[in-house]
Amino acid sequence: MFVLTSTKTDLAYQQCINPSCRATFTVGETYFACPTCGDLIDVVYDWDRLPVPSRLSDFEAAWSDRLNPLNFSGVWRFRALLPFAPPEMVVTIGEGQTLLQTADKVGQYVGLNPGRLLLQYEGMNPSGSFKDNGMTAAFTHACMVGARRVACASTGNTSAALAVYCSATDHGFKAIIFVGSGKIAYGKLAQALDHGALTIQIVGDFDDAMARVRQVADRLGIYLMNSVNPFRLEGQKTIMLRVLEGLGWEVPDWIVVPGGNLGNSSAFGKAFIELKHLGLIDRVPRLAVINASGARTLEHLVGQHGLTWCNGLPDMSVAETYYAGLDAGKIKASTIASAIEINRPVNLKKCLRALDFCGGVVRQVSDQEIMDAKARVGAGGLGCEPASAASVAGAKRLREEGVIAPSERVVCILTGHQLKDPTATVAYHGTDQDNFEKVLGSRGVRRAGFANRPVVVANDLDDIIRTIALYSEDATGD
Ligand SMILES: *Cc1c(COP(=O)(O)O)cnc(C)c1O
Ligand SMILES: [Zn+2]
Repeated sequence: MFVLTSTKTDLAYQQCINPSCRATFTVGETYFACPTCGDLIDVVYDWDRLPVPSRLSDFEAAWSDRLNPLNFSGVWRFRALLPFAPPEMVVTIGEGQTLLQTADKVGQYVGLNPGRLLLQYEGMNPSGSFKDNGMTAAFTHACMVGARRVACASTGNTSAALAVYCSATDHGFKAIIFVGSGKIAYGKLAQALDHGALTIQIVGDFDDAMARVRQVADRLGIYLMNSVNPFRLEGQKTIMLRVLEGLGWEVPDWIVVPGGNLGNSSAFGKAFIELKHLGLIDRVPRLAVINASGARTLEHLVGQHGLTWCNGLPDMSVAETYYAGLDAGKIKASTIASAIEINRPVNLKKCLRALDFCGGVVRQVSDQEIMDAKARVGAGGLGCEPASAASVAGAKRLREEGVIAPSERVVCILTGHQLKDPTATVAYHGTDQDNFEKVLGSRGVRRAGFANRPVVVANDLDDIIRTIALYSEDATGD
């Protein structure tokens, strides 16, 4: 068990983000909302008394010491920027071995000049999504406070990550996950089951599951792994550090990220606030957060109602009115991008802070735009799940609007692996009309776009050879 100390002398502590509260807690305490005012909590550091590298390139020293698991991890090799845990408490399974890939074919689709679009592929994480960056940090905190049972509500990837961390480590963690029934992509459900998590399917959607898991965690004292957990966001900050690392420590012009519960965008904002404060970067990239049209709370509140951070005192009554309207109309989030099918984003306020600091913009994209962008990513990049493609679709929109210039350097975050949601991919490309209607047509996606259809051929050599000749001529445009 981690030793509790007073926040006055602590190098790392927790603090309520509400400027009229600012209650503080030690890192040895576990809250998922401020006990005084109910607001979100940050992990805060006394940077003046902490050893921080003077240049970002100093982090490269860790590469030559990769047999040390803390230096192998793409999260913990940056531990000087998330120094809340004693090194011996760190729970790591080698997360964060990710790629920043220049993708010119996708860049052309987006409307960018050659060399200007980069895809940060987080699907390479052990559980196949960026969530592992957060899980390693939250499990480390769970270890510090002696937690054993850990729970989350999930659209799939949080539960997959949680299940992997429980099964791949020897700390005796027991995974309990809450999912909305019928709302989780097969790849993700498969992971939860395969890794032995107690999987509770609630009749309802993510927002329902989220409300329940909070109650259950409260009642049973179970450790909560959703992104209301401020330690998760500490780990997710390192996605931005790896982007900078991939660019030789240069700051890109834009970071484009899909927005669901808004943990990632919040974490990115916090990373840049801290890097700027520490003098490790001299300018800040702009942030674009992309909602799906069927789950567009952030876009609605920011775009239509002008909701802003307001120095920590945003007018949340606008959000309350919007939620009341959703309830009255029995409107549920609905998009093929199940990882961002969320109408009540828990990190809304922190995301507003990120948008404020990073000159952020918010857009919504349709399921059609998402599926078309996903097909372009697959054909010209590393492949991703539907939610991830929202970033590319959003970048394309912002290019068309002239908000992003063709010469700007844009990094889209591919949040999850291509194989997470084979159902959507096969429906889009496949020839089965009924399946298409069920999965995509019912969402207004048209049978056009960039489908790469499988070709059915008789089991006959001549036929097969004729077909290859026909289609490969087609493809090269001869
Ligand atoms: C969780 C998730 C998101 C949404 O991220 P938030 O931090 O909740 O906004 C987007 N894409 C994928 C693949 C995810 O798993
Ligand atoms: Zn508070």
